[in-house]
Order: sequence, then C-alpha cells, then structure tokens
Amino acid sequence: MKIQFEKKTCSRCGGSGHYSYNPSDGTVCFGCGGSGQKLSRDGMKARAVYDAAMKISAENVQVGMMMMVSLMGGPSKRMRVSEVVEGLKNWTANGETVDGIGIRYGDKLTAYSGKQEKLTRALCPDIHDSIEAILEGVKGVTVEV
Ligand SMILES: [Zn+2]
Repeated sequence: MKIQFEKKTCSRCGGSGHYSYNPSDGTVCFGCGGSGQKLSRDGMKARAVYDAAMKISAENVQVGMMMMVSLMGGPSKRMRVSEVVEGLKNWTANGETVDGIGIRYGDKLTAYSGKQEKLTRALCPDIHDSIEAILEGVKGVTVEV
C-alpha cells in the first residue's frame, strides 16, 4: 500500500531545493528541506486526517499491533507489540502517582503513565483496509493498494 499526499513546488526556492547560502545548512532551502517540494494545502489536511487515524490510546493497544516507537528518545522504529501489561500500579509521572499501562516491544517494556496517552500505529497490512476507508474521498491524497 502506498499513500501519497499532494505536493506542490516549494515557493521559496522554486523547486530547486536551494536557496541563499548560510553557514549551517549551506544552500539547502529550509522551506522544503532541499526536496524542492512541500505538501499542498489539501495535502496537509489529508496528512492530518491520516496522522489522527494512526493514533491510538495506550489502553486500546493489543498484542500483535505494529507501532511506531521511539525508545530512549531515538528515531521512531516499527516494532510489534509482544505483551500488554494492564494495571501498573503507582507509576510516578510528572510528580503524580497514577496507574499506568506497560507495553512490551520485543524485549523492551515501556510504561505509559496514562491510559489515554496517545501512541502511533505503523502502517501494516492489518490496518490497510481501515486506513483506505478513512482516506476515501479525502482531497489531497492518493492511495495505491
Ligand atoms: Zn524549497
């Protein structure tokens, strides 16, 4: 499955990806990161619909789901949920003691302070149909199945 959001030529650099030189970025255009393109207005709206559809609260996560996970503040990686530990008691977050939920990815157990905490799912075959349905009729995105 391939999802593409509508793009337009970057108005800052006119599509070249380059703009005036500065010492930290060289001539890379910061309007588009050097790609020469950025999301159109409809593309941005569609992207927001997609991003919202990929969010799930910690309490609804189930074993087997594929998630985007950033461990120890590193870059997000696709990881499959191998265990959900309900009812972590007396988990302390931001000075408050709350009941939390633990989610294990491989051998790493990550604790979430609130059951309402929002996590991000990764695109995988299990949810292709539902994502396709959500994006159907939305402007600014093309979905190839
Ligand atoms: Zn640009």
